[in-house]
Amino acid sequence: MSYNIAIDGPAGAGKSTIAKLVAKRMHFIYVDTGAMYRAMALYLIRRGVGAEEKEKIEKVCQEAQISIEYQNGEQIVLLNGENVNGLLRTEEVGNMASVSSPNRAVREKMVQIQKELAEKADVVMDGRDIGTCVLPDAQVKVYLTASTKVRAMRRYKELEEKGETCDLAKIEADIAERDHRDMTRELAPLQQAKDAVLIDSSEMTIEEVAEKIIALCK
Ligand code: C5P
Repeated sequence: MSYNIAIDGPAGAGKSTIAKLVAKRMHFIYVDTGAMYRAMALYLIRRGVGAEEKEKIEKVCQEAQISIEYQNGEQIVLLNGENVNGLLRTEEVGNMASVSSPNRAVREKMVQIQKELAEKADVVMDGRDIGTCVLPDAQVKVYLTASTKVRAMRRYKELEEKGETCDLAKIEADIAERDHRDMTRELAPLQQAKDAVLIDSSEMTIEEVAEKIIALCK
């Protein structure tokens, strides 16, 4: 049986950085489920679907084939065969992902792929519904969070490093809005699983958080 570590939490809590590091140390595969929802969002944007067009999202999402593969340990997201990794981490795509991810058809497609991956391999999987829906039997579950201010600052720095002009107040407002949407949606809302360990990373280093999670596996 495979060993699964589920990490859920709000945007900018450091999930992907931590999950990647834990996966490397444990020799597990890292599965970034947010990237899959982002790839679907990218497809919807490219097809000109508006955030409010629920029925159109339901229909158009069926045209998108999302799959993931690994190259030198890095997760590559393929959208209808195209490597879209470099196009996923923009605010526009993140916001569209948060708007389109509550859609049942979108979720069903993604969750099936995620479950299959975790059945076949030892994984560290991060997202919003991993401990609650995708991997309810994961051996270790973590709910990773940080204050909105800290999370906004992290996102700001990430964008700045990529040379994107950004406004900290706008990022903070976007994060708060996205959290609200993710936490209040009907289907698979973001919430701490009953058996998840809560880690607030506001005052912790990446190393400290990773060590804490690895210690939970022993
Ligand atoms: O984690 P990331 O910011 O890349 O996720 C983008 C969006 O994808 C989230 O705001 C959320 O709406 C959606 N998502 C989800 N379930 C997951 C992972 C991400 O609904 N397991």
